[in-house]
Amino acid sequence: MEDSKKNDRLRLVIGWLYPKYMSTYGDRGNILTLWQRCHWRNIDVTVKEIDLEDKINPAYIDLYFFGGGQDQAQKIISSDLQTIKRGQLRKAVRLGAVFLGICGGYQLFGHYYRPANEMDIPGIGILDVITTAGNKRMIGNIVVETNEKLKFKKERLMVGFENHSGKTYLGKRATPLGNVVVGFGNNGEDRTEGAYQGNVFGCYLHGPLLPKNPEFADLLIERALEKKYGHVDLTQIDDTLELETQGNVIERAKKIQ
Ligand code: GLN
Repeated sequence: MEDSKKNDRLRLVIGWLYPKYMSTYGDRGNILTLWQRCHWRNIDVTVKEIDLEDKINPAYIDLYFFGGGQDQAQKIISSDLQTIKRGQLRKAVRLGAVFLGICGGYQLFGHYYRPANEMDIPGIGILDVITTAGNKRMIGNIVVETNEKLKFKKERLMVGFENHSGKTYLGKRATPLGNVVVGFGNNGEDRTEGAYQGNVFGCYLHGPLLPKNPEFADLLIERALEKKYGHVDLTQIDDTLELETQGNVIERAKKIQ
């Protein structure tokens, strides 16, 4: 990083959507990972919790995180998401902010989630995907080979844990985040997992996702900083432990599939 940037610390503002309702399977660990990987690089991080009734200033937040939650939680936050947040979040997409949605959060980035025998839960349509509940939950370890377009350098595989009844199908404007090596993925049919569109990313990988997939964490940080500062080269971090853990999970998942 050039000296000029070292002097005035880079700043990253993370907006954490509905932390009280939408944070299953340790999804909050993704916030901790983004925070820590920035601090290891002397990047200043502010985490803003955005809950029911809270308004959003789209110009202030660089990266949004939306964790997973059971159907009940998705229903609780739904009207707030539509009436208070939808317009501001769609504006944030136009401003180039980065978004990561996990499972239930991913589903509500789409057009709608149709739970079994229930009213549709409308999404905010920032990902061209729809989700309908299947009659069998898709649960277990999951290994994904990431889309080569994302240009992962160190390790193209990502690992996590999935537990969802929702089956997600991608429209023309969304691109799969990757292909399933072990597990169900988007719908247990087309072997795709997750989706992205510009800087909006979604997937079914709980765990939490980012501690065991450091390259994806850095991709999100880099894109969020680029929106603000132009091109930023992140200092390389020693991810030996993270990649070793990832390797162990991949081996175990392949063995027990
Ligand atoms: N309620 C959604 C489903 O079952 C999402 C579940 C989750 O976030 N773990 O598909």
